[in-house]
Amino acid sequence: MCGIVGYIGNSQAAPIILDGLSKLEYRGYDSAGMAVFDGEKINIRKSVGRLKVLENLTHGGENMPGLCGIGHTRWATHGAPSDTNAHPHFNAEETIVVVHNGIIENYIQLRDKLISRGYKFVSETDTEVLAHLLDYYYKGNPLEAVTKVLHRVEGSYALGIVFADCPDQIFAARKDSPLIVGQNEDGCFIASDVPAILKYTRKVYYVDNYEVVRLRADHMHFYTVDEEEIKKEPVTIEWDANAAEKAGYEHFMLKEMYEQPKTVSDTLTPRVKGNDIVIEELNMTDEELKSISKIHIVACGSAYHAGMTGKYVMEGLARIPVEVDLASEFRYRDPILEKGSMVVVISQSGETADTLAALREAKAGGCKVLGIVNVVGSSIAREADNVMYTWAGPEIAVATTKAYSAQLIAMYLLAMKLGKVRGVISDETFAELLGDLKRLPDQIELLLNNKLKIQKFANRYIGAKDVFFIGRGIDYAISLEGSLKLKEISYIHSEAYAAGELKHGTISLIEDGTLVAAVSTQPALYAKTISNMVEVKARGAFVLAVTCEGNTEIEKAADYVIYIPETNPYFANSLAIIPLQLFGYYVAVGKGCDVDKPRNLAKSVTVE
Ligand code: GLU
Repeated sequence: MCGIVGYIGNSQAAPIILDGLSKLEYRGYDSAGMAVFDGEKINIRKSVGRLKVLENLTHGGENMPGLCGIGHTRWATHGAPSDTNAHPHFNAEETIVVVHNGIIENYIQLRDKLISRGYKFVSETDTEVLAHLLDYYYKGNPLEAVTKVLHRVEGSYALGIVFADCPDQIFAARKDSPLIVGQNEDGCFIASDVPAILKYTRKVYYVDNYEVVRLRADHMHFYTVDEEEIKKEPVTIEWDANAAEKAGYEHFMLKEMYEQPKTVSDTLTPRVKGNDIVIEELNMTDEELKSISKIHIVACGSAYHAGMTGKYVMEGLARIPVEVDLASEFRYRDPILEKGSMVVVISQSGETADTLAALREAKAGGCKVLGIVNVVGSSIAREADNVMYTWAGPEIAVATTKAYSAQLIAMYLLAMKLGKVRGVISDETFAELLGDLKRLPDQIELLLNNKLKIQKFANRYIGAKDVFFIGRGIDYAISLEGSLKLKEISYIHSEAYAAGELKHGTISLIEDGTLVAAVSTQPALYAKTISNMVEVKARGAFVLAVTCEGNTEIEKAADYVIYIPETNPYFANSLAIIPLQLFGYYVAVGKGCDVDKPRNLAKSVTVE
């Protein structure tokens, strides 16, 4: 998510840190800050807003002299974007300072313990526990304090730490959040990503999980969390500076597609406790969940497609009636909101104007609103009664991929939770479903690795005029998203149809060679979809099928088949969408389109 840069050496640290942070701006952030040791004490400057604000505040770093410092661009996860919540964070004496990227999952327990020992917290962040915990463990040996803290925290982190007692050292550590370190003849660097330090060195070390680094001006030492020293080999970076901002990927969209296994796992893991699903953010007792009589899902664009999948999954697993509305329609159709109804609004940015208006409409109608949102502290997050965050991290490409995948997970988790408390699904089924959910990240990875096959296929359709996507049930919801991915970035006209509906008019558009992508992941509907495939094939269509391993029967009706690994049919969207995203992407790339910034579109739609 955020960006970290640190420097210790013979030059002034602040300008190097500011420059490095500017190279990490692409990662998305809401505030920025920096801590520099001035020879006597550690000084901090931080501010909500763009990096420019921090640059002005520090006169480009000039009024923060010192040879050792750490900086941060924050993408809020715990506590709204604010000056106080911005990093770095201090201990009470201002002798230990921390920047952190990631989420400390057990921060509430740690904070309560620290408070009972007299520690006072000034921010709402999970990060602040690290500063106080370091203070608690620091008895003169900084490495020991760092490793003791790492033994206590759960979750993800990339850390930069400075102790005023040892200003000739910076400490860095990592688990599940990116972190690299590098060195040149002038000093040593830490950074979240290569572009931040590419100007200074091309030899970098990738810090692995549970490793700690002690950086001095002229050397670095690597340790395990048990303080044993380890040897690491540097990697030479060959990328040009521009490619580096995308971590070597050609586009942010491709990078974000590749982040999906992590996104899915990050959204899932914190809510799986043993054999159960615990969604603390719901703030609802099992009794309250049981009493929900109807759910309204309201969203726009891809989030609406995630919501549509949510309808099938929730109705299937929890037997609750679900209505899905486009937010722009919901707000003006005078919806009937009964007591006992819950409204779920979904938005990546949390700023989607129509969705926000729908949320207000629902609240005015006396309903409790749950927001499923990616950006912490956004308007929807603030105004919803409860917020369930998707932990996808900042999404830069306009066409969503990873945030959509995270929204699907939120839908599944809600459906399973509701199904369980309402007694619709047995413990045994629940356990099987949970097993399937946990397998999704690896299965997505597998599908992503198949990208060459999709790329080859996509190259054949660069000149296509119209493409149709068909499917039934959840497959229809997948088709809608697959179609949107293609048209929004490649500008090829495409439409999604419920497979049985095509013959009620649209089939007249099928000509020789028209591509029809048939999604068929629901075993109960295989035969029905095959009939529809045969119908379009008889009219000249070229049929691409996306189906589950084992459904070889489909090869009789399809011209080209992409198989997805086996999962519960309710979760098939998470897998089937991957080849369709790749297809849309490669068609757009082949056509030379501006994939990350398609014409006429904006990432966050703040107008109605
Ligand atoms: N969880 C931390 C916070 O909300 C760090 C967020 C980040 O990675 O930027 O402050």
